[in-house]
Amino acid sequence: MVDPLGALAKGMASAQDQAARRQRRVAAQIAKLGPCLPGNLVERTTRCSSPTCHCHSDPPRLHGPYPSWIRKVDGKTVTRTLSLSQAERYRPLFDNTKRLRELVAEIEAVSARAVEEAEGWAHTGPGMHVGDAKTPM
Ligand SMILES: [Zn+2]
Repeated sequence: MVDPLGALAKGMASAQDQAARRQRRVAAQIAKLGPCLPGNLVERTTRCSSPTCHCHSDPPRLHGPYPSWIRKVDGKTVTRTLSLSQAERYRPLFDNTKRLRELVAEIEAVSARAVEEAEGWAHTGPGMHVGDAKTPM
């Protein structure tokens, strides 16, 4: 005769182990990331302060586009216009941030799923079964 409770407990333990391993893997990737710049690297066109410049003509021919680092500091938008060499130098730091967000989202998803599994909540939701925890994401 099958022991449904025993089988369930065993399945949950291995799901927990798997979640813990995955979490450690993701944390190790975060540790290797290096500097992560907040905000975004974007291309911006600008107007200068000279009223006779072509950027104020009709239709305007704006300056740029220039690579710019835009971020929020204390709720205010801070914009730094970058040289091309600065943009190339710092682009990997924005890529790091993007990767960091992905990895954080992954840890959150793994943790949420582990808790759902541990509490048995996962089985009351639609489409979730014990076996689902073994499916690679
Ligand atoms: Zn101008």
